[in-house]
Amino acid sequence: METTSKVLIIGAGLAGSDAAWFLASNGIPVVLAEVKRLKLGPAQKMTTDAELVCTNSLKSLQPDSSHGMLKHEMKGLGSLILKVGQETAVPAGDALAVDREVFSKRITDILGDHPLITKLDIDAEDPNELMSEHGCDYCLIATGPLTTEALTNWIKKEITGEDDFYFYDAIAPVVDADSLDMDKLYFKDRHKPVGEDGEEADYLNAPMNKQQYDEFVNALISAERVAPKDFEELKYFESCLPIDTMADRGIDTPRFSCMKPIGLEMSDGKRPWACVQLRKENLLGSAYNLVGFQTRLTYPEQKRVFRMIPGFENAQFIHLGSVHRNSFLNARKILDFDLSCKKLPKIHFAGQITGVEGYTESASMGLYVASQILRKIKGQEALKWPVETAIGALINYVMTCEKPVPSNINFGLMPPVTLTKEQRKDKKRKSIKKSLAAERARQVFDGFISEVQA
Ligand SMILES: Cc1cc2nc3c(=O)[nH]c(=O)nc-3n(C[C@H](O)[C@H](O)[C@H](O)COP(=O)(O)OP(=O)(O)OC[C@H]3O[C@@H](n4cnc5c(N)ncnc54)[C@H](O)[C@@H]3O)c2cc1C
Repeated sequence: METTSKVLIIGAGLAGSDAAWFLASNGIPVVLAEVKRLKLGPAQKMTTDAELVCTNSLKSLQPDSSHGMLKHEMKGLGSLILKVGQETAVPAGDALAVDREVFSKRITDILGDHPLITKLDIDAEDPNELMSEHGCDYCLIATGPLTTEALTNWIKKEITGEDDFYFYDAIAPVVDADSLDMDKLYFKDRHKPVGEDGEEADYLNAPMNKQQYDEFVNALISAERVAPKDFEELKYFESCLPIDTMADRGIDTPRFSCMKPIGLEMSDGKRPWACVQLRKENLLGSAYNLVGFQTRLTYPEQKRVFRMIPGFENAQFIHLGSVHRNSFLNARKILDFDLSCKKLPKIHFAGQITGVEGYTESASMGLYVASQILRKIKGQEALKWPVETAIGALINYVMTCEKPVPSNINFGLMPPVTLTKEQRKDKKRKSIKKSLAAERARQVFDGFISEVQA
């Protein structure tokens, strides 16, 4: 497309990378500003773009899951995150997990090689000044949950005021595979039979009997934790609760959550009382992530308590869990449905800062806003997305929820589907509902995508 318009994108994370790719692929020059090559943020370890700061999983690939639906739509929009994710996948059953270093490096190279993308290493402070300095007509702020201080201050001063600009979340530890006692662990994916060669399974399991479990959970409850700072109000994302917070809710809570033994019978057919699941962090299988073990325990206490897990007696941790800040805006109050600022319409927001949660959710918001900016450049009106689609449902959520709490994509964000009498009586009605909602989303999206591309 022939144009003189140029877009400034601040933040080359999941949302910013996909937005930059979308616009550049549609002929729009982009200035992509990123701070991490000057200084890393508190959760970052790499200087490359689109860093996955915690788990290496981009979640389910199942077409009938909400994440599968989101991936279908990201693919339709030409997502670079999804494409490179598939090219750098590591085994993870029905989920898409990636080799995070190869993933991030490849995205950095692809964006860097694009003739319409200019990279700028900067801790952006004032988007208006940067836009005029670089001759940009629009700006997209995609600086994520750990937006740097100066820009946070600018956003608060110019856009949001002081109201609730923070939220807390937590990271799971990663353990060195060689330090584990493999005689006490076994490979098995949930609900799949133990194969002849168990090591083919994607998950490694540490089973516990009742006594081991009770001792472990009691240790979690009594362990020392990192105290929140005075100004911090602990509001966790419900589906990402720290394991210690889960333990506080009751001795059995972890056993009905990330430590549930269902589908993890051992080779003798017996089901453990509880199980810690480990997922490969890299293709080599040299490091494992403790699934669902995000925590606010202090580092020494994490080492002490997690070494109570059978097989972990001598565990060496590659990194330990931690709590983290998670900044986001009250989108409903300050943004329009195309995620442009009501007060400053040339400035847009995308990614986690808009009140979604998750890697693919953030990337899809980047694609969504980029498609809306492209329409503006073409002189077209902003386009309302049907709420039946995964992306439309996320937008509807952030634009309507009264008390914003960042949300993953889930079926609860979409309008309910109507079941027949027979389907309502069916024991599998929950999965029927999901299949129908997913099928409806696919049909609506496939019919709608031509409007986005018009
Ligand atoms: C510690 C932590 C753990 C998480 N764990 C998971 C998880 O396991 N699974 C999951 O799905 N989601 C997780 N999330 C949630 C979230 O979805 C991801 O953080 C996701 O990366 C958000 O995408 P984003 O594009 O909005 O922001 P990011 O991917 O964080 O990208 C923002 C980019 O902006 C840059 N930046 C910030 N300020 C400036 C500035 N002023 N100037 C220039 N550049 C700037 C940052 O360096 C960064 O590269 C986690 C979040 C955090 C903080």
